[in-house]
Amino acid sequence: MPTMEELFGSNVFNDAVMQERLPRDTYQALNKTIEEGRQLNPELANVVANAMKDWAVERGVTHFTHWFQPLTGITAEKHDSFIHPLPGGRVILEFSGKELVRGEPDASSFPSGGLRSTFEARGYTAWDPTSYAFIKDGVLCIPTAFCSYGGLALDQKTPLLRSMQTLNKHAVRILKLFGRDATRVVPTVGPEQEYFLVDKKIHDHRKDLIFTGRTLFGNKPPKGQEMEDHYFGSIKPRIHAFMTELNEELWKLGILAKTQHNEAAPAQHEMAPIFTVCNVATDHNQLTMEIMKKVALRHGMVCLLHEKPFAGVSGSGKHNNWSMTTNTGYNLLDPGDDPSTSAQFMLFLTAVIKAVDEHADLLRAAVSSAGNDHRLGGHEAPPAIISMFLGDELTAIVDAFVADKEYQASEKMDLEIGVHVLPKFPKDNTDRNRTSPFAFTGNKFEFRSLGASESISSANVMINTIVAESLRQFADELEAAEDFQSTLHNLIVRTLKKHKRIIFNGNGYSDEWVEEAARRGLPNLTNTLDAVEALISPENIALFERHHVFSEAELRARHEIRLDNYAKVINIEAETTLMMAERQILPCCMTYMGHVADTCNSVNAAGLPATAPHRILAKLDERITELSDAIDALRAAVTSHQPTVNHYLDARYEHDVIIPAMNLVRSIADELELLVGRKDWPFPTYADLLFNV
Ligand code: ADP
Ligand code: MG
Repeated sequence: MPTMEELFGSNVFNDAVMQERLPRDTYQALNKTIEEGRQLNPELANVVANAMKDWAVERGVTHFTHWFQPLTGITAEKHDSFIHPLPGGRVILEFSGKELVRGEPDASSFPSGGLRSTFEARGYTAWDPTSYAFIKDGVLCIPTAFCSYGGLALDQKTPLLRSMQTLNKHAVRILKLFGRDATRVVPTVGPEQEYFLVDKKIHDHRKDLIFTGRTLFGNKPPKGQEMEDHYFGSIKPRIHAFMTELNEELWKLGILAKTQHNEAAPAQHEMAPIFTVCNVATDHNQLTMEIMKKVALRHGMVCLLHEKPFAGVSGSGKHNNWSMTTNTGYNLLDPGDDPSTSAQFMLFLTAVIKAVDEHADLLRAAVSSAGNDHRLGGHEAPPAIISMFLGDELTAIVDAFVADKEYQASEKMDLEIGVHVLPKFPKDNTDRNRTSPFAFTGNKFEFRSLGASESISSANVMINTIVAESLRQFADELEAAEDFQSTLHNLIVRTLKKHKRIIFNGNGYSDEWVEEAARRGLPNLTNTLDAVEALISPENIALFERHHVFSEAELRARHEIRLDNYAKVINIEAETTLMMAERQILPCCMTYMGHVADTCNSVNAAGLPATAPHRILAKLDERITELSDAIDALRAAVTSHQPTVNHYLDARYEHDVIIPAMNLVRSIADELELLVGRKDWPFPTYADLLFNV
């Protein structure tokens, strides 16, 4: 057994390895380039590439890949070997600086939302040197951004890096006004990942799980999660073995896997890493999802990352814990207990409150998908209405600010702003409100609306950009102020007054909240179609262009890809529903009906009325007729619609016509599941899936 020291990061070309393997001046130059976010010069790149190759080859690696995150939501890689031919039929292993910093994958088959016309099929990948290279499955992976030749972002990473840049710029402006010496601010993220594990042999009998990642049929088992005995329950040996191996694999990649526990639903679990810089956390979360799936297979299980694999029990999400840290080591959302920094904390807190209230639509859009539509508002995950939880103490502080109408500068001269209304800040926020989408948890915010399967990039692009926008406006006003203290105070009071409506500490699952939120004017966008429109509103296009995070074309492309993806997902679900209903459920039900009819006949022949068999037969006949009608209706709905060039109309059709038709098939089939003999049902049930690992 290797020690933790030997294991952790052993597959990563990290800072320690660089320090050891790079010439001193190269190491320093590389660090400086990374720090300043500049391009790597070719000589430097050659030295780094060579050291990387030597390190990798010593570990048995023969290939490298530019590892990137196209808009499919998963990662992509194309492997190239290090071999270069020599005269005499020999080869040497080489990896040049050029190969390290830039790649040119044939990108024509990745979704581009119309950004990359077919005549310009090529895209290029560029190294993100702030995320370390690593070895995965014997291949040296270089984390890269993926753009079109015209420089348009075709991936998840490019806008994320851009959003980090703008957040940095405006946060540093603010810190300067407070006289701090920090020169960089980075967003930090700790994503908690939920997942289900099911036995592979059982899983493989379900076409729906194979094709869609979720069950399209099935009744809740007699026991679900109502006993609340799974959450934090003791971990079964098979799951424990999986978790142990998962941790080891993650640790080797330098991923700070920290917490693991059983979640609310049977067969549901969670893993949380220790937080890190936003883009690295995003890379790590993508790797985590991939490795979870791989390790599960080694244990004869399948890891389901779908947002709602099973109806009637909780689905899976991700909690995106988010804060900002300076290069001098301060967490800007840590209230601390030093009154001299409380004004600063208050300003950053106010910036987030304003951001979330003004741009709730973007946060909602960022987490929208066909899968997540099943969760949000489903009384198991945050509602689709975005609001913020601050807890009682912090809300009291906000209220005190809001109530402070008359500001008298003389009172607070040497105490920065408004400190007279600041009681000691809550150090540890033990208030736990699991129903809030955006909760303050002591020294960070937790955005809880993310779906389990999606990249956390989109959500963080939004948070970084909208907070940057608040800070930009604040910095503009404060930099121009004659009296910093009074301007600051007025700014905080004014902003909190305006945006206080976004704060809600109550039960987000209640019907009263839906009404109350409507009164407050907070949007309640219950489905993807309504949610994604925010991506192309004129104000939001202007916002992203101002911050150089997305151009209008890039936003329109993302809008289109989300709608297209939605329509395709529902279409696949409909086709799978038909396949299972027509070719598995209906034939089995008819066979079973035949058995019941035989029973009726033989019992009648024996001179008895066969009351129950006849009753069951009649019920079966009725349900099977209904099922057959519902199948025909779904079949007609699917075949009568040809995809158009208008993604919105396609998605609308899927949402308005296909989903209800599919739901009807399911509800009748689920009734039949309860009528048909266990042995005659064509595939494993929820009970088989949820209670067999
Ligand atoms: P819970 O399940 O109670 O919400 P966990 O301990 O499972 O909490 O997860 C909390 C997450 O928040 C962890 O990933 C942790 O590293 C992360 N976190 C803690 N501090 C910060 C911070 N300053 N910035 C971002 N994430 C943070
Ligand atoms: Mg959490």
